[in-house]
Amino acid sequence: MKAVRLTGWGREPTLADVGCPLPRGTEVLVRVEAAGLCHSDVHVIDAARGALPYRLPFTLGHEVAGRVTALGPDVEGTVAGERVVVHGPWGCGNCARCAAGRDNYCDRRGDLDWHGLGLGRDGGMAEYVLVPSARHLVPIGGLPAAQAAPLSDAGLTSYHALAGVRHALGEGTTALVIGVGGLGHLAVQILRATTPSRVLAVDIREEALELALRYGAHDGMPMRADTARMLRVGTGGVGVDAVLDFVGSEATLALAVEVLRPGGELAVVGSGGGRLTVRKPGFLPAGFRLSLPFWGTRPELAEVIALARSGALHVETEQFPLSAAPEAFGRLRQGRVRGRAVLLPG
Ligand code: NAD
Ligand code: ZN
Ligand code: ZN
Repeated sequence: MKAVRLTGWGREPTLADVGCPLPRGTEVLVRVEAAGLCHSDVHVIDAARGALPYRLPFTLGHEVAGRVTALGPDVEGTVAGERVVVHGPWGCGNCARCAAGRDNYCDRRGDLDWHGLGLGRDGGMAEYVLVPSARHLVPIGGLPAAQAAPLSDAGLTSYHALAGVRHALGEGTTALVIGVGGLGHLAVQILRATTPSRVLAVDIREEALELALRYGAHDGMPMRADTARMLRVGTGGVGVDAVLDFVGSEATLALAVEVLRPGGELAVVGSGGGRLTVRKPGFLPAGFRLSLPFWGTRPELAEVIALARSGALHVETEQFPLSAAPEAFGRLRQGRVRGRAVLLPG
């Protein structure tokens, strides 16, 4: 079968022929219907040798939806023919966190040489993917695969990041989304669907701000020298209650702490390499809290899928055949993708 393989650090992934895996034990074989491209894939490709614990080569793709086609002899909890999305942050499978579907915070994460599906383990940018256990699957019913796949990371990570700051987003509050790409445009929708907050968006691209407004943001502003001042004016001088930063650069972190209201919440999701210095006494907003969410839990993924099936979430997609993976990665690098780029192996 064809698969998009990472064969060297700093080298663009290539389309290769690999053997189709056979499920053993508790493994489940899924025929891939859709696999999303995440900006994290670009960070992985660009990582310096030794920066990540993964062993090469492996197949990329950590946002995957498809149909169960074959089961190992010990599989319980799914049946052949079921349409599913894969919960990707695979942990050790034995600790208390993994037992609760919280593999994203597995107690042995530091000992593993993978972070999950398509991240050190063969992922879904291929015709088939082998999933170690049915506990990683969430049924999607009739949800189109190109919608379901991005929900398993772009949707889930946004949902989980928001879960950590939700208590700050009651009536009369303001939330700020920085970076309205694959994750950000879903964060805007999840904020609108699950909080009463006013939602503001910031991006360097005009098209991204249009996307934010189309999906429910109350206002959008370009990232400029005076953005902090504009945001303060836009909140009647008090600042914003929570910032979801999907960039995580020096500039966006600086913006976040400049516009946060005292007691506000900052969730840093983007891996932009920015640094924030904590010092007391200092200039950070009094009482502000920082979270560094990673992906999300399996129960949360089921909630995201339910939200999408209720009609509250729509993923803006650009779709490509598997063979066009290099072109899709090129567009993602150039910042030219609207919403999420999705590969369709079928
Ligand atoms: P994306 O490329 O689809 O979107 C990024 C958006 O940010 C784009 O709209 C871009 O124009 C905008 N942007 C870039 N620089 C900016 C700046 N300086 N100011 C304002 N906007 C800016 O990326 P994505 O797939 O949505 O991923 C976003 C980030 O989240 C990446 O760093 C990715 O690695 C990370 N991520 C983290 C997790 C996690 O679990 N923590 C999970 C998935 C992705
Ligand atoms: Zn991702
Ligand atoms: Zn574990």
